[in-house]
Amino acid sequence: MKKKLVVLGGGYGGLALINELLNKGLPNDIAITLIDKQPFQGLKTEYYALAAGTAADSELRVAFPQSPDVTLALGEITSLDRTKKLVHVTGHDPIAYDYLVIGLGCTDHYHGIVGAAQYSNSIQTFQAARKAYTALNNIAPYGTVTIVGGGLSGVEMASELRESRGDLKISLINRGPKLLGGFPDGIQNYAAQWLREHDVELLLNTQLERIEHNHLFVEGSDSSLETDITLWTAGIQPVELVQRLDADKDKGGRLKLNKQYQLQSDPSIFVVGDCASLPYAPSAQVAGIQGEHIAHILLAIWKDKTIPVEPIKLRGTLGALGKHSGFGVMGSMSIKGRIPRLIKSGILWRSKHS
Ligand SMILES: Cc1cc2nc3c(=O)[nH]c(=O)nc-3n(C[C@H](O)[C@H](O)[C@H](O)COP(=O)(O)OP(=O)(O)OC[C@H]3O[C@@H](n4cnc5c(N)ncnc54)[C@H](O)[C@@H]3O)c2cc1C
Repeated sequence: MKKKLVVLGGGYGGLALINELLNKGLPNDIAITLIDKQPFQGLKTEYYALAAGTAADSELRVAFPQSPDVTLALGEITSLDRTKKLVHVTGHDPIAYDYLVIGLGCTDHYHGIVGAAQYSNSIQTFQAARKAYTALNNIAPYGTVTIVGGGLSGVEMASELRESRGDLKISLINRGPKLLGGFPDGIQNYAAQWLREHDVELLLNTQLERIEHNHLFVEGSDSSLETDITLWTAGIQPVELVQRLDADKDKGGRLKLNKQYQLQSDPSIFVVGDCASLPYAPSAQVAGIQGEHIAHILLAIWKDKTIPVEPIKLRGTLGALGKHSGFGVMGSMSIKGRIPRLIKSGILWRSKHS
């Protein structure tokens, strides 16, 4: 009987792993099952554009691999039984595994801010981004949108929405003094200047205390900020299923792993992408590279070869400021303007067509 590799989540990490296994040649005695609640991969790095109304739903879908070696099980994964090595999925009998890969991505982190989950919109899932799209695009002319969190997704969201709806009042709230924490000063200043020039109000050094319907309360202020829609881009954590998993985690709730990306307590379970504790910020790029490395490790295990140790080499980070401008860091080089935007569009095109 074939051994079963079950991959939870067909996102950047899970799919990179499966595609690499198929490209390198899956051993005859291994069968792959891919489980996801969506019938396609959602290009999460572009969800801000879906929410803003500048990208169609259909543009952000990538078909899952079609191969006789891959069985697709579509449904919501509700729990894992690590003792019996079973995955529980809505609409399916329990799915047995010999090797499991957890690649379920992340969800919002509200940092205990009261009302944030209830009164803000998310762009962390396809479904949530569609909901945000409807809410944003139904706002009456001259309405107010407040985006909480001035990291990459908050900046991309604010700029894309500005290009989509010139009439809206858009504010971007950031806890720290600078947008795009972790980026070089020149990039932070460039993005801030672009946003100000495009009439996005920046509320820096602003710590939210609580959110109520149409009102945001800021620490140290008696009055509230009025808003029609609040968008949350102020933090992430692994999905709820991983939050519930009884295993060692880092401060961000990500699963601690050994050098082969296996759970320290259970070598039959590998973890890829946003759920994995790695010395890098979570990103699609890290998830993709790590997915390929796990494929090489699995092939070595199955073929009784030496386990390869491959460092994760990042190519750089790119961000969009609307459809015509952007920024990026490649090694020690910062790039701004049209070129990084074109490169970002090219990468998106490649990931849709590869
Ligand atoms: C707006 C935005 C912009 C971003 N921009 C960039 C960028 O420019 N560059 C970059 O590198 N990264 C970017 N990121 C981060 C990047 O999208 C993530 O780091 C990446 O998607 C992580 O890949 P993953 O494989 O871990 O998970 P994902 O790609 O999120 O895939 C997880 C999969 O698991 C499935 N799933 C989850 N829970 C369940 C369940 N219970 N049952 C069944 N299926 C389930 C989901 O449907 C999904 O298909 C951005 C993120 C956002 C939100």
